[in-house]
Amino acid sequence: MDVTGAAQDGVAFYQLTQRNARRSSAAMAYVAPKEGRPNLTVQTGAQVRRIVVEGARATGVEMMDGTRITATQEVLLCSGAIGSPRLLQLSGIGPADSLRDLGIAVVFDQPQVGENLQDHLDLYCISELSGPYSYDRYAKPYMAALAGLQYLLTRKGPVASSLFETGGFWYADPDARSPDLQFHLGLGTGIEKGVAAMPQGGVTLNSCYLRPRSRGSVRLQSDDPAKAPLIDPNYLQDARDREMSIRGLKLTQEIMAQAPLARFVKAERLPGPEVKTDQDYYDFICEHSKTSHHCAGTCRMGADSKAVVDPRLRFNGIDGLRVVDASIMPTVISSNTNAAAIMIGEKAADMIREDARG
Ligand SMILES: Cc1cc2nc3c(=O)[nH]c(=O)nc-3n(C[C@H](O)[C@H](O)[C@H](O)COP(=O)(O)OP(=O)(O)OC[C@H]3O[C@@H](n4cnc5c(N)ncnc54)[C@H](O)[C@@H]3O)c2cc1C
Repeated sequence: MDVTGAAQDGVAFYQLTQRNARRSSAAMAYVAPKEGRPNLTVQTGAQVRRIVVEGARATGVEMMDGTRITATQEVLLCSGAIGSPRLLQLSGIGPADSLRDLGIAVVFDQPQVGENLQDHLDLYCISELSGPYSYDRYAKPYMAALAGLQYLLTRKGPVASSLFETGGFWYADPDARSPDLQFHLGLGTGIEKGVAAMPQGGVTLNSCYLRPRSRGSVRLQSDDPAKAPLIDPNYLQDARDREMSIRGLKLTQEIMAQAPLARFVKAERLPGPEVKTDQDYYDFICEHSKTSHHCAGTCRMGADSKAVVDPRLRFNGIDGLRVVDASIMPTVISSNTNAAAIMIGEKAADMIREDARG
């Protein structure tokens, strides 16, 4: 099964953005090979304080130390689904009332900046193993040292692993047009709190509902650019999200209880036998679930006039400004978001070139 192919139904090894057994970020894959180009200057560890808008046009950015960088063509905002709405609001671009409440001069009233936050919520099913079958066996210092050595010498072994090597897609809603649940099989436990010590280690199968209807927000807590924003993911606010999430979690339990796994799995530890009713499941999810790190939607793209950016990612109401990152997704995609964010960058590059040619 090809998880990035036409149909996702089923299980597979995950495809990775990896090169030479190292995770390859967009910076490694796209920017590093172009270092030294005369028309490219990269500043790391440099935080933008605000986008400068003159008249109704973005003309550049102001850095934390007060220096300004002027745009000859456009300002491209790529600070991510949390960072982009944050920087816009610090620049006076966002919901006018809440900006005024913080003492920020309103440059452009756009109530939807920071709204429509979506994320996937990971739910965990953890089982104890009857033998040392998972990467938990490398938790001992001498085993970790051996694994490190193996990686240095051969670029193989557990250090080269993504830990979540396999997974799959299936249905919470049998009538969904394509899978609405995703599974990641994590070959270990260590990171989860609340799991009693397991002598032989454990294994984690997580599930997440891929089409959440709940919507959260990213707001500022103050006009101080050094302060973290207020992020309210508002997970499970919608009753359907709760129901579908519980179905996904029950499915992971069912998968881990299948006969072919019986000789590897000693017992399910989380959720465990005490979790029985839907209220129990909901309480368990509230205590043990975590973000999938798939934030999206806070600078929504749309053809309507209320959208933050238009379908060419141009900011509605301010010239010379585009948003190019996961924040523009009107609805979070039904899977991991990294490749889609890179695709947004690729597509934007094409559109910027086309628009520059006129
Ligand atoms: C821990 C973690 C694990 C993940 N694992 C996976 C995975 O396995 N597979 C997958 O598909 N997706 C994964 N994701 C999601 C994926 O990384 C994101 O969807 C993707 O990186 C989003 O790209 P982006 O360009 O929108 O934002 P980002 O990649 O977040 O880029 C935004 C950049 O802007 C910078 N920035 C923000 N504000 C400012 C400012 N004021 N001045 C200067 N710079 C600023 C940030 O430092 C950052 O470098 C993971 C995310 C996290 C956090």
